[in-house]
Amino acid sequence: MSSPLSRVNSSAATLTKNRTEGSVTPASGMCVTCVDGCVGMCEIGKSAYRGHEVIYPQPFGVITTASEKQYPVDYSHLNIMGTAVGAQGIEADSDKAIFPNVNLEVHFGNDNGIKYRLPWIIPGIGSTNIAKNNWEGLAIGSAISGTGLTIGENVAGMDPQAVIKNGRVVDTVDLKRRVKLYQDYQIDGYGAIIVQANVEDTRLGAQEYAIEKLGVEFVELKWGQGAKNIGGEVKVNDLKKAQMLHDRGYVVLPDPTDPAVIKAFERGSFREFERHSRVGMVEEEAFAKRVEELRAAGAKYVSLKTGAYRPVDLARAIAWSVKYGIDYLTVDGAGGGTGMSPWRMMNEWGIPPVELHTLLYRYAKRLHDKGAK
Ligand code: SF4
Repeated sequence: MSSPLSRVNSSAATLTKNRTEGSVTPASGMCVTCVDGCVGMCEIGKSAYRGHEVIYPQPFGVITTASEKQYPVDYSHLNIMGTAVGAQGIEADSDKAIFPNVNLEVHFGNDNGIKYRLPWIIPGIGSTNIAKNNWEGLAIGSAISGTGLTIGENVAGMDPQAVIKNGRVVDTVDLKRRVKLYQDYQIDGYGAIIVQANVEDTRLGAQEYAIEKLGVEFVELKWGQGAKNIGGEVKVNDLKKAQMLHDRGYVVLPDPTDPAVIKAFERGSFREFERHSRVGMVEEEAFAKRVEELRAAGAKYVSLKTGAYRPVDLARAIAWSVKYGIDYLTVDGAGGGTGMSPWRMMNEWGIPPVELHTLLYRYAKRLHDKGAK
């Protein structure tokens, strides 16, 4: 019997397990005998009495996390095909083709002006504590390596010390620190610090602030939290902070300005608010307008990040990127992150990475064959 692709109803990510480990019904993940009186250690059991805790991978804020779904083909099944003839990234000369001489530098963007010493990018580390607490390593490491680092969503909006006037960001502590740390260690213009935005960041003018006040040249548009068509959630265990986020335009549940909710929180009836960000509703006209606005604000480079959507959305992303002169497109396999996507979505949402990137190649080739650049 083949093993199921998905492991459901129990995972270290949701701190759940089966009572009859080793004898589990594949379709539901339930114990083959679900016994009356079980305390409910599995996801179904735990969600019956601690519902929300089973939605996101745990413990929140101090993890990075990734899907455990076993696709028929994934990147671990692919090997690199070396060759005995010739060389790439170095002259085909035995005396020159030694390890420290290899050149992995890449140049890209519409004007080919983005230059990385190494061909990778960290694609979006946002307002979670795991990002904040490890920022020195991420920023300094990326900067001295000459690679790209993307500051994810909500960093300005979640910063209690940010100054917001008339609904727009005018000063920050966290975003400023993150950008400056990277800039201070950047060498000879290699690499880039990139600032992402979701619906709330856009309303707060976080990218305009980053461009105008922090000298950021590179900004990224995003079609939903975690490269999926969802909003992001964080837990807030402080009433004042929940009220501040509510004032800044976030959806905070339950309403922290409602006197009955305040009383219930102070009584200890519940201990955490949920801060949700909104789902972006993608329309071509608005997308084109936003690209124009960012360029007018001074953005030298504009990128787009997409990911776990259906094929037509990937086609849309690549077609619009070409049409509106996006400098590069990130297509995220969406199988992991800093834990702001629901655990089931990390496992069960969108096209698996190998197939997604195969489609990307086919769509790009089709446009290229028609003369697109
Ligand atoms: S509630 Fe049922 S399925 Fe869940 S762990 Fe207990 S016995 Fe197993």
